[in-house]
Amino acid sequence: MEKQNLPVVVVGAGPVGLAAAAHLVERGIEPLVLEAGASAATAVREWAHVRLFSPWAEVTDPAAEKLLAPTGWTRPDGTTYPTGGDWAGQYLQPLADALGDQVRYGATVTGVARAGRDRIVDSGREEQPFTVHIRTADGGEERITARAVIDASGTWSTPGPMGANGLPALGERTAADRVSYRVPDLKDPAVRARYAGRRTAVVGSGASAFTALALLADLAKEEPGTHAVWILRRGIGEATYGGGEADQLPARGALGLRAKAAVEEGHASAVTGFRTEAVERDDDRLVLVAEDGRRLDPVDEVIVLTGFRPDLSFLSELRLGLDERLEAPTALAPLIDPNVHSCGTVYPHGVKELSHPEQGVYLAGMKSYGRAPTFLALTGYEQVRSITAALAGDHEAAERVELTLPETGVCGGAGLFDEPGTAQSDEGGGCCAAPATLQIGTGAPAASGGC
Ligand SMILES: Cc1cc2nc3c(=O)[nH]c(=O)nc-3n(C[C@H](O)[C@H](O)[C@H](O)COP(=O)(O)OP(=O)(O)OC[C@H]3O[C@@H](n4cnc5c(N)ncnc54)[C@H](O)[C@@H]3O)c2cc1C
Repeated sequence: MEKQNLPVVVVGAGPVGLAAAAHLVERGIEPLVLEAGASAATAVREWAHVRLFSPWAEVTDPAAEKLLAPTGWTRPDGTTYPTGGDWAGQYLQPLADALGDQVRYGATVTGVARAGRDRIVDSGREEQPFTVHIRTADGGEERITARAVIDASGTWSTPGPMGANGLPALGERTAADRVSYRVPDLKDPAVRARYAGRRTAVVGSGASAFTALALLADLAKEEPGTHAVWILRRGIGEATYGGGEADQLPARGALGLRAKAAVEEGHASAVTGFRTEAVERDDDRLVLVAEDGRRLDPVDEVIVLTGFRPDLSFLSELRLGLDERLEAPTALAPLIDPNVHSCGTVYPHGVKELSHPEQGVYLAGMKSYGRAPTFLALTGYEQVRSITAALAGDHEAAERVELTLPETGVCGGAGLFDEPGTAQSDEGGGCCAAPATLQIGTGAPAASGGC
């Protein structure tokens, strides 16, 4: 079959994978979305209880809305905030349903390669289509031939560990019965019982950690004895709690303020500069030990929210260009590197920054960020709009993208990944004061001092 007539395989029926399919349909290109789970948005459904900090208007994709319109779908009030469950049930599943048999469930992608060419072989490489290996829900195997592959498989299933060196802390695995890597759903009686009246260590300092601290503080008001021990690898400074009221996403700013209130009201105690090296058992409790030898008072539970990382294992036969630190596409990495960009600003990027030495393969969505934080669905929607324009040969549209992204309001002169004990200052940070209208593909913010 002519390569151009083959489908574009999209890995993952999450928000970005489904948006990619909608854009492909709009461009007259056949998509085939392969989803490991039994329904759309399998990952989002796992955090169904968490309320998004983005309102509805910022988590739906324009091409998807167009595809949904004939089904009678209307977007919920754009100013209200869905939970993960609302996002999945009221938008993502209807979108997948509208795509019909262009979405396959129970199809886990286990490998992607150039047909007949392993990673080493140059000869005739670019002319070959891709072969996508899948494992079906009944344990069977299949091969699908594709003209291009958009990997939007997210990072949800590969959360970061507790160990400060990026590997599991000594004893972390054996303490698995007391360690969770998810924001707890305290409305679930079993989960509530796990944390009520208990002492819980929360490791991490992003939006998910803030959410967990806020939830545990609420629980403490109803269940005496509930207490959180907040473990931070760095010190507490101006930027620790995010941008607060300066955040252009007010609900995201409010999360940090709720975490701050949890500390100030005494429901959480912060332990700074603590780089976890080991987890030891103390009868029925756990003791966290830092690299500097500090040992914390025992806790009953640990919630680890240290971010996510991409699973690149099924892409090992492709020639990817990835940044050695973030595991994000090489040209994208400097634009999102938290060592440099404390303000959470996302700089312009489209197909140009998302391309690899292996033409026709793209990482999109949460996975494109590798280990970098502050990914927004809006960013993913623009990514796939640009990628699909390029696949359709519309290079002008692929390059010309205007993206308005809400900034976090954190204007630290230093990066997010400061050494422990160093407070972040707000000196020198013009980056968040700049307008956030960005030109994708031009390589420069529309009007920003940069940071
Ligand atoms: C708790 C939480 C709250 C968030 N809140 C916001 C917010 O308010 N605003 C915002 O803009 N962003 C938010 N985000 C960030 C981001 O928008 C979401 O994580 C979003 O779900 C990312 O979409 P995605 O399509 O890239 O990946 P995912 O949603 O993770 O979807 C990936 C899909 O791929 C499937 N998959 C994985 N591996 C395979 C495989 N090998 N084969 C086949 N299928 C596979 C998964 O089952 C899943 O369905 C939040 C993230 C989290 C975790």
